[in-house]
Amino acid sequence: MHSLGPMLRGRACLLPAASARYGMTDAVVALGSNLGDRKSSIRASLARIEELPCTSVVRVSALIETDPVGPIEQGTYLNGACLLETDLDARKLLAELLSIERELGRDRDREERWGPRMIDLDLLVFGDEIINEPGLTVPHPRIAERLFVLEPMNEIVPELIVPPGRLTVHQLYQRLVQAGEETCL
Ligand code: ATP
Ligand code: CA
Ligand code: CA
Repeated sequence: MHSLGPMLRGRACLLPAASARYGMTDAVVALGSNLGDRKSSIRASLARIEELPCTSVVRVSALIETDPVGPIEQGTYLNGACLLETDLDARKLLAELLSIERELGRDRDREERWGPRMIDLDLLVFGDEIINEPGLTVPHPRIAERLFVLEPMNEIVPELIVPPGRLTVHQLYQRLVQAGEETCL
């Protein structure tokens, strides 16, 4: 009988330690909140993610305070990102993230597009997969234009290459910072 103690990643994953990474994918998830107790919502979402079957939270960025982007007037956001290791596929992982959002009080029927929300969990990157289907686009299509996404990502996965391009998170981050500096000149 193999020891199933601390070697296991995630709850219901009955893999022996030697093959604990078999079938696992690295995924990066964006965490955002600008309603209610923002920090608690983000903490609670991380706890829920950690409870998903065969899923571990490997790294979590610092949370940064950011101004809302877009035409809707709303409070400032707390934004962060986390790195996961998971045995779920991308569709199942996104379904679980949307379900955690609902569980934490997000009601899409009563909110505006890009309006205030208790919690927003976006699937940014899922291994080297490129997915374009109704309800799921991976990598998330707006990573390269969002400092509030790239700054936390740069903290936890600077060397990760964002498909389909060849640029790392760090390079995308620097490019965006430089573009911002140029428009301020
Ligand atoms: P943005 O996508 O610009 O960050 P948003 O997070 O405010 O906007 P939501 O209203 O939270 O958008 O989500 C709209 C839909 O986007 C969701 O129902 C989900 O099916 C879809 N979606 C597609 N790809 C992704 C992804 N990679 N991560 C999260 N949601 C996605
Ligand atoms: Ca979002
Ligand atoms: Ca979202």
